[in-house]
Amino acid sequence: MSDPVSITFLGGLGEIGRNCAVLETDGRRVMLDCGQMFAGDDLPGVDAVLPDFEWLLESGGGIEACIATHAHEDHIGALPHLLEHLSFPIYGSPFTLALVRHKLAEARVLDRTELRPIADGETHDIGPFTCEFLPVTHSIPSGLITAFHTRQGVILHSSDFKLDMTPVDGRRTDLSRIGALAADPGIRLLLADSTNADNPGSTRSESEVGEVLRGLFAAHAGRRLIVASFASHIHRLQQVADAAVATGRTVVTLGLSMRRNVTIARELGVLHIPDHALRDIEDLDELDPREVCIICTGSQGEPRAALTQMAQGRSKWTEIGPDDTVIFSSSPIPGNEAAVAAVRNDLARRGARVVHSGQIGVHTSGHGKAGELSVLHSVAVPEWFIPVHGEYAHLVAHAELARRLGMPDERVVLCEDGDRVVLDDDGITHTGSVGGDHLYVDGMVGHLGSTVLGERRILGDDGFVAVVVHVDLEGRRILAGPDVVTRGWVEQPALVAHEAAVADAVAEVVETALADGDTGLDELARVVRRAAGRVVNDRTRRRPMIVPVVREG
Ligand SMILES: [Zn+2]
Ligand SMILES: [Zn+2]
Repeated sequence: MSDPVSITFLGGLGEIGRNCAVLETDGRRVMLDCGQMFAGDDLPGVDAVLPDFEWLLESGGGIEACIATHAHEDHIGALPHLLEHLSFPIYGSPFTLALVRHKLAEARVLDRTELRPIADGETHDIGPFTCEFLPVTHSIPSGLITAFHTRQGVILHSSDFKLDMTPVDGRRTDLSRIGALAADPGIRLLLADSTNADNPGSTRSESEVGEVLRGLFAAHAGRRLIVASFASHIHRLQQVADAAVATGRTVVTLGLSMRRNVTIARELGVLHIPDHALRDIEDLDELDPREVCIICTGSQGEPRAALTQMAQGRSKWTEIGPDDTVIFSSSPIPGNEAAVAAVRNDLARRGARVVHSGQIGVHTSGHGKAGELSVLHSVAVPEWFIPVHGEYAHLVAHAELARRLGMPDERVVLCEDGDRVVLDDDGITHTGSVGGDHLYVDGMVGHLGSTVLGERRILGDDGFVAVVVHVDLEGRRILAGPDVVTRGWVEQPALVAHEAAVADAVAEVVETALADGDTGLDELARVVRRAAGRVVNDRTRRRPMIVPVVREG
């Protein structure tokens, strides 16, 4: 029997974000992606959500390397955090590594790793595996499919992908090599992107967006153009720049990440903008607005991004007005709709014309739909299949798709965050869960628990009521208070009466408790909490956080 290979999914199976898996054989481990997830409004104050590294760290870490399939945050965003605990080399395409390098330098952990570049088609021995890397099309350049050649056969990881037959850089997904691997030695296990598995048909080619942009640039001649896009979507930026240059416009980048990524991408030759057609935002005043195309961040309505600031009239660089056309070359990620709508409204108030993907095809997804997934399955013909990268419903839709294509039920294995599976001579078996909790990061504080988050939600919804009372336990009397301090609970002037009612009720129960004797500070705090809570609820029907503070002396 050959050595089994285990795969432990630390994130990304049950959510879009924090993709991370550990492949292990013979006690040796390689990590595949190390991403983070952005926190929504339901996680107040949380900066990022990380994969659950607890099992990994408690079992000795031992990562021999991490493969970064591409430079999206949901694949590389947790690297700075993990590198604080462990040290390991990172493999990726030169463009991916350029963005990783910047991220790690910013977090001051660059010295904890070594960046090892991979070219398309290359094979590297990484940890216990021989890894072959194939080009794949996605919404960021230089994504890589990984074929792990293991003693249990080939494990093929699709990375995030669409099957774009007319990619902007001409670098197509290497389906023929996947077909060759399928023929010899065969693909034992496929792990594939499920993001768009429940969408029928195929995702439009990126180059079709270019045609739409060219049409828009012609239609809005004589107006200043402002295009918002993801700063990492280099091929989109290329097409915006091409349309700008073709219509005699100068490209101006706005937003830190936009300027940085344009610089990095041009240096690496994945973005081509002639020097004469690219200027810094500092030069904006020297240019005729009718001959300018500003490319900026903020397509998701991010509060601190360049477009949001312009829309709110807070940009130090320029004001938006009736002579501007703003193109959202993006679509809102689920959860960002309200923020994006607010920015559109602000832009409309300033008189700008707004164009977005709900009206015309100025955006296309980076993830293949059911039609493209079917092509991948048909070419790879895997023996076993685990859908990855998706919310649970996406994973289920992808599993159903595989079954419709003829895979036997038992060869399609649904996994969730924390699941560990083993591939041996008999196939795949679930061996339980190592825990797949969300790790919340808040500034420098480190990891937040669900207790703090629960408290923040209560504070955010209903505020707090603190009751401070000083007692003399031996003398069985109140020395000072109760003083009631509240925030975010009730508006003045009603507040005064409510506070007085809370103080009266608390004074009464504390006096009674003290008179009954034999009561400690903890018991008094409970009595105070109950009494205050009752009054607060009776009078306001709200549930603010009640904070009893009982002190001796
Ligand atoms: Zn991606
Ligand atoms: Zn992704």
